[in-house]
Amino acid sequence: MDDDVGQGLIMWMPNGTVIIEELEKLAKETETEAGYHRVVTPHIAKENMYLTSGHLPYYADSMYPPMELDGEKYYLKSMNCPHHHKIFAAEPKSYRDLPYRIAEYGTVYRYEQSGELFGLMRVRCLHMNDAHIYCTREQFNEEFRAVNDMYLKYFKIFGIEKYVMRLSLHSPEKLGVKYVNEPELWQETEAMVRSVLIESGIPYVEVEDEAAFYGPKIDVQIFSAIGREFTLATNQVDFSQGRSFKLQYASHDNKPETPLIIHRAPLGTHERFIGFLLEQYAGKFPLWLAPCQVKVLPISDKFMDYANEVTKGLKKSWHPCATG
Ligand SMILES: [Zn+2]
Repeated sequence: MDDDVGQGLIMWMPNGTVIIEELEKLAKETETEAGYHRVVTPHIAKENMYLTSGHLPYYADSMYPPMELDGEKYYLKSMNCPHHHKIFAAEPKSYRDLPYRIAEYGTVYRYEQSGELFGLMRVRCLHMNDAHIYCTREQFNEEFRAVNDMYLKYFKIFGIEKYVMRLSLHSPEKLGVKYVNEPELWQETEAMVRSVLIESGIPYVEVEDEAAFYGPKIDVQIFSAIGREFTLATNQVDFSQGRSFKLQYASHDNKPETPLIIHRAPLGTHERFIGFLLEQYAGKFPLWLAPCQVKVLPISDKFMDYANEVTKGLKKSWHPCATG
């Protein structure tokens, strides 16, 4: 970090960037196999989009102040969702196109109070392992379970043995203030999520008044090798933004229906996840993730040519840090 750049704004140096790129490679392979398409979206958008999404009324305190441009206000994105909804809406959809899964390592900006900034754990610019799944009610269980399975797959890869999923529910007293005012939809979606968790046999606890404003969510708590707890990521159900954005697909009998949306980010953000991994591995990364895998050390100048040849061979076998 650098004062001239600003607090909470991480600049990734070459070794950190190797870890980032390996994580992204893993995520891309995993998501492609799971039927996601990749997308890329801009870092800013106009005020109107965040009014539609509800971010401005509900989330304004966590967003950077707007920039005025050509008589309009633009905001730095604090979430990728609205942009992804626009991609869903860009072409007409039918039930045959669902589930529609789009993924992006999206860069988002959040205004954390300076007192809350903390190393890699709480920052103002985040790179998120984001994706949105648009599906029918009938597809929901299978999709939600597949997302949970993806979490479990990652836990195995990174040796995360202890975790708890926290089902965050709304609070009926705060409907219309903190939560979208749809009491029946809250009941229905909370029950859907609960039943997937029970069916999958995943350990979970329920907490009231911690949901996202548009639906219930699962916060994933993981524990590092030394037992410290981290909130890794969330897995959210959204019955509201599909309607706000007028997202539709044509049903079997050709009627317009609104898809359910799942927001998910199993690897969380690079900032927090790599912060966790540094502690989990005590800095000793597994070979595939290690920024420095090999060092070639000739014992005298006489062997420089051979050392260079070995180095070249190693580089050819592709890793950015195989230098002598
Ligand atoms: Zn989202």
